[in-house]
Amino acid sequence: MTVDSTDNISILKTMFDESPMPIALYTGPGLIITYANRAMHRAWNREESQIGKQLADALPELEGQPFIPILHNVIATGVAYEAREDLVGLVANGQMTYFYFDFTYKPLLNDKGEVWAVLNTATDVTNLVRTKLQLEASEQRFRNLLADAPLSMAVYEGPDIRVLIANDSMLNMWGKDESVIGLPLAEAIPDAAEQPHLSILKKVYETGEAFHIDQQQLLLGAGDEKIPFWFNFTYKPLKNPEGKVYGIVHAAVDISRLVQLQKQKDEFLGVASHELKTPVTSVKAYTQVLERILRAEGDVKKADMVGKMDRQLDRLTGLINDLLDVNKIQSGRLRFNPEYFNFDEAAIQMLDELSLSMNNHRIHIDYNADTTVFADRERIRQVIANLLNNAIKYSPGSADIWVSTAVSGQSVVVCIRDEGIGIADENKERIFEQFFRVTGDLQHTFPGLGLGLYISSEIIRTEGGKMWVDSAEGAGSSFFFSIPVRSRSGA
Ligand code: ADP
Repeated sequence: MTVDSTDNISILKTMFDESPMPIALYTGPGLIITYANRAMHRAWNREESQIGKQLADALPELEGQPFIPILHNVIATGVAYEAREDLVGLVANGQMTYFYFDFTYKPLLNDKGEVWAVLNTATDVTNLVRTKLQLEASEQRFRNLLADAPLSMAVYEGPDIRVLIANDSMLNMWGKDESVIGLPLAEAIPDAAEQPHLSILKKVYETGEAFHIDQQQLLLGAGDEKIPFWFNFTYKPLKNPEGKVYGIVHAAVDISRLVQLQKQKDEFLGVASHELKTPVTSVKAYTQVLERILRAEGDVKKADMVGKMDRQLDRLTGLINDLLDVNKIQSGRLRFNPEYFNFDEAAIQMLDELSLSMNNHRIHIDYNADTTVFADRERIRQVIANLLNNAIKYSPGSADIWVSTAVSGQSVVVCIRDEGIGIADENKERIFEQFFRVTGDLQHTFPGLGLGLYISSEIIRTEGGKMWVDSAEGAGSSFFFSIPVRSRSGA
């Protein structure tokens, strides 16, 4: 089958007519629309054929826009014109509407080299541009958010931890200006390469796991004049929809002021408790002498009252000692005098002494740790006394306390159990924190500073053991601690 040239032209015309790309041909100085395919009519939002009309008549809304002058220029100069993402106003549904087009005006030359027509091809990129603009706006909002955030913030990109964004506060913290943006962190702040942060950031990038650290000290400042600052840091990985890490958000809160205040508070507590201790010790000495004198004089009533004073002074001394211990723990000055001793023998002696002052309670004891440990006996006594006191204090409705010692693996484990008010799940970890006290209608009736368990757990930790609790609210508590078994031979 042969195809003649008329067929060829009609095939070509169908191809142009059906092409999804808008195509039009303007001829002569009047810019007559000699050809415009369906897609171009759709782009113009015109249903009827505009062929044969002057462009300015077909699209009167082009007046005031640059396109007709540009077309005239193409005809005059023979130089093609190309535009990308250009804004074109067209009337759609009776209303001026703006679209974005990539388009070309290409001059067509006759044999004499004169422009006889301009070929216009176009692509409607409105949706693409709008999405891009929205993305840019959202990115701008994100940048503004970071810039105005009351935190030091930065965003890193890529495995070499390149600085994509850093707000003023972060740049200040680094002692750098905006010139570091775009650089890998190791180049941006060479100091960071020496500090552990870079390897942590790389790990976050590799593993996709966020990292947070509180009270991290950094030495900042220019030259040799480095000043210590404290920060809480978070490195959070940014992941694409497939879950692959492409960047990291870094947020840092300067808590230097808080740390300074905390230090002042600790120093104050240290000095205050130290100063309180001396007069209380001397008042206690006078009280004991006074009690003895009154007893000798036969004045039992007054002697008993002074005896009560003496016991209250013991409580006061206990509170002061707790404050002093906390201070020593914080400054790493809590002293230990370890010695080898048989655990059960020591426990029997301690509990005999401690139970003397607990005559309203029955203490059931089960000793099963006839083994040697290497620890500070006085400190272990302090821990047992604290757990016993708590067991009694927090079980107002019950008179029974159970104490047991056992050997489990390479440790001696002590358990002190009561049938008291118990501890809710959410507080079980927190009761070992400094100054933490459970609050509630039940609890506010019990006196205390919230230091006993903190001190006890620190003592046990220093002895190489651990402390934990098993309890349910309203169902009593079992406090446990373990310390390592250690024989004299060092086994
Ligand atoms: P304090 O007894 O001075 O408040 P502690 O550090 O010894 O301080 O205890 C912290 C908190 O733990 C207490 O305030 C109390 O709420 C809770 N707690 C401790 N021991 C017990 C116990 N045996 N039963 C119930 N709650 C307890």
